[in-house]
Amino acid sequence: MTHPKPKMNQQIPGFSSADIGLIQKNLLHWYNTHHRHLPWRESCDPYRIWVSEVMLQQTQVKTAVPYFLAFVDRFPTLESLARADLEKVLKSWEGLGYYARARNLHKAAQQVVQHMDGRIPHRFSDFKALPGVGDYIASAVMSMAFNQVHAVVDANVKRVLARLLCLDIPVNQSSAHTRFKAVADTLVDRTDPGSFNQALMELGALVCTPSAPDCGRCPLAHPCLALAGCQVSRYPLRLKAKKIPCHHISTGIVIKAGRVLVTRRKLDGLLGGLWEFPGGKRKNKESAEDACIREIKEETGLDVRIVSFLTHVRHAYTHFKIEMDIFYCDYISGDVVLDGPIDHKWIAPENIHRLAFPTANRKFIPLIDRSVISRKQT
Ligand code: SF4
Repeated sequence: MTHPKPKMNQQIPGFSSADIGLIQKNLLHWYNTHHRHLPWRESCDPYRIWVSEVMLQQTQVKTAVPYFLAFVDRFPTLESLARADLEKVLKSWEGLGYYARARNLHKAAQQVVQHMDGRIPHRFSDFKALPGVGDYIASAVMSMAFNQVHAVVDANVKRVLARLLCLDIPVNQSSAHTRFKAVADTLVDRTDPGSFNQALMELGALVCTPSAPDCGRCPLAHPCLALAGCQVSRYPLRLKAKKIPCHHISTGIVIKAGRVLVTRRKLDGLLGGLWEFPGGKRKNKESAEDACIREIKEETGLDVRIVSFLTHVRHAYTHFKIEMDIFYCDYISGDVVLDGPIDHKWIAPENIHRLAFPTANRKFIPLIDRSVISRKQT
């Protein structure tokens, strides 16, 4: 496989070609001596790099490491992932959040196996056309696995570039990615783009951190414009974030003959494919108990009565947060007729851990008292 010959770097206002060359050289030298030894950096296997980059979107390195090791142990090859049941994939992802990442990775693996002979495509546009592969993942995998010249832009890169070049681009503005990408493309090293991309991200993670950047140890201190102008604390710029809404949720642990009811969410959308205890949003002025009974009826067709309160859980998603009241409920009557969920199970409490649940449910699952579930219902 041949790749286009690397082009020369374009100019950045205020920076000469020699400055850009120095940035590349100093950054790569620093990376070679200071980078963390992370499991996905031990090989150039595009599958492992792909999995790691999918996990690292929205997840910190220290959280991703054990998930990555367990995931590639369970699904060591693209073929094994493609063959796996989606539920097993989601179980391996349980707790990482943003489950669309896992569903898309699974779907993409199946497409590669079915339509591309099981080989991850080398062409940027082919790879980017796979489910869940956006500009970031495509640039990361193509540069790190195949040494292609594509700059990677994540939150760390944006922060470093904003300070290095005093860029007046708010990092949370919708057009920010494209604008930072254009800048990163002018800086990326043409001969070792994969290492350069990792180096810039690593610098943001270890040195040019959000608060208290360690400029004294930074390989880019010269020619960092923010440092030279004593403006490090001004960058990166950020638009004022909107206040995120809070939803009040009532959830029921519906008990019938020593088992509890769990339902499975639709495959698309937030937390798609995961199992949960039935419930939903409280209406205006409705009590938490009434909302629990109503939601269970609407979602599953069952009539239940509240037995007791279990606990209150708070959880924050990216665009909203929830406050959840959880109740033990006794089944009274009805057959399960689902409206919303795609599946249900009556399971023994000791088997709950076998299914993949959202983090908000996992916060109260350990508190479930088996004696309440096994007691004789009246
Ligand atoms: S000198 Fe300081 S502000 Fe500039 S890139 Fe390095 S760590 Fe960031």
